[in-house]
Amino acid sequence: MHANSGNVFMVVAPSGAGKSSLVKALLQQDPSIELSISCTTRAPRPGEVDGREYRFVTPDDFKRMREEQNLLEWAEVHGNFYGTPRDRIDAATREGRDVLLEIDWQGARQVKQRFPGAIGIFVLPPSIEELESRLKARGQDAPQVIARRLMAAGGEIAHAPECEYVIINQEFSVALSELIQIVSAARLRFSSQAARHAQLFSQLGIPAEH
Ligand code: 5GP
Repeated sequence: MHANSGNVFMVVAPSGAGKSSLVKALLQQDPSIELSISCTTRAPRPGEVDGREYRFVTPDDFKRMREEQNLLEWAEVHGNFYGTPRDRIDAATREGRDVLLEIDWQGARQVKQRFPGAIGIFVLPPSIEELESRLKARGQDAPQVIARRLMAAGGEIAHAPECEYVIINQEFSVALSELIQIVSAARLRFSSQAARHAQLFSQLGIPAEH
């Protein structure tokens, strides 16, 4: 890992597991974590604002970003394209800031190739029934979209073993505190501490990581 490297957190989950609410609450508690704003070709949902939840782009724009190597990773999810702009993540990690990506398993795999120390956190629903009712309760998607997402949920969940951590989101406050603990633990890893306290480590004669 680069000496000044900030942590890269990837939160992965099927739609309806409550991932976005957890991430939102985490960032409210800890504004030092930078949220990566993905690009997507999907249409905005009611209430979503361009540049806040996503950058909403046309398929042509997306293709151009891909061709110009402006995306750290990209994937097709539920029939739309999603991708993580590269520049912000590179700058943040280089400058020692932590970043968080809300992406699917395909994206998480690609990010690990670029940042092997990236930390995958998988959010599971407490049951399949609960997942279905949460998807319906959101009420923002058409029934056929919900059905497709439910089917896709199984595919996403099959990749949970690729993540370092798993949170079961039964009780929101418990899940949030678990997420906060994972972030704290990551910041206490040798590599993070050595980067943050370089002077102390050198004064104490601690050898570099091997
Ligand atoms: P939604 O359309 O519900 O906001 O997101 C659908 C799925 O796309 C979610 O699983 C979400 O994690 C994933 N996703 C969102 N942004 C990105 C991205 O930049 N890259 C990848 N690979 N997946 C993303």
